[in-house]
Amino acid sequence: MPFGSQAKMNTRCCIAGGGPAGMMLGFLLARAGIPVVVLEKHADFLRDFRGDTVHPSTLEVMHELGLLQDFLKLPHQEVRKLGGQIEEEFVILADFSHLPTKCKFIALVPQWDFLNFLAKQGRRYSTFTLIMEAEVVELLATEGRVIGVKVETSGGALEVRADLIVGADGRGSIVREKAELKVDEFGAPMDVLWFRLSRKSADGEQTLGRIVKGKMMVMLNRGDYWQCAYLIRKGDFIHIKERGLEVFHKDIVTVAPFLNDRVEELTDWEPIKLLTVRVDRLQKWYQPGLLCIGDAAHAMSPIGGVGINLAIQDAVAAANILTDRLSRGTATMVDLQRVQLRRDFPTRMTQAMQVFLQNQVINRVLGSNQQLKLPWPLKLFNRWPFLRRIPARLVGVGFQAEHVRTVEAAEVKPSPPTRSHHASDISIGLLDIISHILFK
Ligand SMILES: Cc1cc2nc3c(=O)[nH]c(=O)nc-3n(C[C@H](O)[C@H](O)[C@H](O)COP(=O)(O)OP(=O)(O)OC[C@H]3O[C@@H](n4cnc5c(N)ncnc54)[C@H](O)[C@@H]3O)c2cc1C
Repeated sequence: MPFGSQAKMNTRCCIAGGGPAGMMLGFLLARAGIPVVVLEKHADFLRDFRGDTVHPSTLEVMHELGLLQDFLKLPHQEVRKLGGQIEEEFVILADFSHLPTKCKFIALVPQWDFLNFLAKQGRRYSTFTLIMEAEVVELLATEGRVIGVKVETSGGALEVRADLIVGADGRGSIVREKAELKVDEFGAPMDVLWFRLSRKSADGEQTLGRIVKGKMMVMLNRGDYWQCAYLIRKGDFIHIKERGLEVFHKDIVTVAPFLNDRVEELTDWEPIKLLTVRVDRLQKWYQPGLLCIGDAAHAMSPIGGVGINLAIQDAVAAANILTDRLSRGTATMVDLQRVQLRRDFPTRMTQAMQVFLQNQVINRVLGSNQQLKLPWPLKLFNRWPFLRRIPARLVGVGFQAEHVRTVEAAEVKPSPPTRSHHASDISIGLLDIISHILFK
């Protein structure tokens, strides 16, 4: 049934955005008995490629929730080591086999499968409402406090009022814009072109970053295809297009010669998706009645593929800190500040590392056209394999692992599955980490 012109909903927590951050927070709050409405502007989760990496710490969260076994039934690949190739030299950069987590690998799962999985789990609880095709367009505020959102849906306009509004609407967040939260931008020298090319068994297994003659590409083994991330100088996509597809084919073959027999699978530019890289962070993630998490609070560089992971960790921390409060009423500014205090350090550290690598490695390599040598610190990774545990820890778990502290509320224990709600049919500390890795 379509919404009437005055459609209104009241709930305890309203989340703008059904990405990893929003879906995980929605699921956790609903599971703990907090009524929650998640608003997602798209009709489904089946969208462009937005990263497939589900890291060991996210898998640990799934394990703590008792969902891991079911989750790993989804088609996936397991990455246990990350390799790098500079010109002709090869090095294993990260080895996840020593992580203190149940899963000692990165699971490559299409993001839409991951989000559908979370949606399915959320729908088991009567406290969980997911509205698709529901775009948040405005904040409602009174006396300096955010009290709701205005939403455009396929079924008409809707107002959702809640004790807490969460902006989990990604790097282009309308919530943070409307709330006029101040953003620090850190810049990035590169953008990324994402595309797939078929994979043959003779190609090898290794998920690998390659640097050859001033060109960089990361290749994720996705079974029958390679998911490729080709790095370009910021803003260069337009010039690459002008030079033509054939030249781009040659560039790809320079970095990975074995792709010579299949670069022509890219017959036009359409399947080549541009990720405009941004690194930014809100100075303050909250204001009365409002909290931002995930990319909405801090857009991450693709280095390390940690964006999804950080979004999930934010959601777990927010649920841990806010559930008790929300079960009794509204979250105070101090509660919201605690969420930022908890997540600020790992976010800052991760972004600092990404910005350092962007400026010191990627910026120097891209377009330099010179043959590079494997830098000596990386040579140590071949000589002393235990060093591979450090990047594995930083990428696989991050600077601060969050654990699920909330419990499933007795009164919302799983009910029989309900159908999907669409808008139109709803009627209603670093040194410690290093020593732990090295001496564990
Ligand atoms: C091409 C590409 C490749 C990437 N590769 C990787 C990778 O390999 N590994 C990795 O970890 N990260 C990767 N990322 C980054 C990763 O996708 C994000 O860091 C992560 O998804 C952040 O999660 P989030 O929930 O905070 O935001 P998002 O995933 O951006 O989710 C925000 C959600 O909000 C919805 N939304 C937006 N505006 C509104 C609105 N006004 N109203 C309602 N809903 C709204 C969006 O449709 C979206 O579903 C990649 C990103 C891109 C674009």
